[in-house]
Amino acid sequence: METPFETIPCPICQHEEHEPFLHVPNRFQPEEEFQLVQCRQCGFVYLNPRPTAEYIGRYYAASDYDPHRTEIRSLFDVVYAAIQKINIGLKLRWLKQTVGTGRVLDVGCGTGEFLQAAQKRGFTVEGMEVNANAREYVAGQGIPVAETLDAITGSFDALTFWHVVEHIHDLSGLFQHIRRLLKPNGWLIIAVPNHQAVDARAFGRFWVAYDAPRHLYHFRPRDLDQLAKHHGFELQQRRFLPFDPFYNVLLSRNLKRQCLSKEDSTSVVGDFLVGWQSFWAGWRHPDQAASPVAFYRRRASR
Ligand SMILES: [Zn+2]
Repeated sequence: METPFETIPCPICQHEEHEPFLHVPNRFQPEEEFQLVQCRQCGFVYLNPRPTAEYIGRYYAASDYDPHRTEIRSLFDVVYAAIQKINIGLKLRWLKQTVGTGRVLDVGCGTGEFLQAAQKRGFTVEGMEVNANAREYVAGQGIPVAETLDAITGSFDALTFWHVVEHIHDLSGLFQHIRRLLKPNGWLIIAVPNHQAVDARAFGRFWVAYDAPRHLYHFRPRDLDQLAKHHGFELQQRRFLPFDPFYNVLLSRNLKRQCLSKEDSTSVVGDFLVGWQSFWAGWRHPDQAASPVAFYRRRASR
């Protein structure tokens, strides 16, 4: 019988030795815990052991896994939708400033709001999404969308990964696709959570973006740069998504209260201040943001 879990060497430097970093709860089933380890050579933090690619699907079945929601159900959803709108505006502005115009592939496009907005701004868009319901929704908007990267052909001016890379088992395979699909001068745009942000440090094992076992990796900006560099890409600039610390604080606070099953002694005001501190840190140094956004281009020599 196949085992549902696998143990891996460091995905950044391939070193075999690591030490325990944190035990983190599954936020949809907090009694279930997973181990994060830290590489002894490069310091990268990742889920180990982790569910195999074949087995991970069951952890996405939780009905309120929010990224693909399209209906508005509560006040939280209203605020979330408003912030999403502003986030999309920012992402489009960055896309216009860097890429200018052309073909964009959004990997892990969810229900396709970013692609729809990019299309309205004159980009030719395409998506990839593993969730069948989300994919059907995107296709219904007239946007070409594939289930896997294998199914996509052609060359793009930009590939975007908004909080997606941390979900992908085979990073080398991913970069092979990136190299195949990106034009020689194209842009690779990647946003991932940063476990060294103020909000992450404040909530420790309850930080919502540890999101085990769906998040397989916890990149510091330099880890992602290292990975990109290994595959021939160089950092051009770094920005940040400004609202993510507040979102993290809100959900981390809930998770913490749920896990401790008693009233948490920290105040709403204190937690809100953590959000602000994290926001300011990101404003001053995108490297320290809760969600840094990296803009890479292929190195000329490769
Ligand atoms: Zn390492």
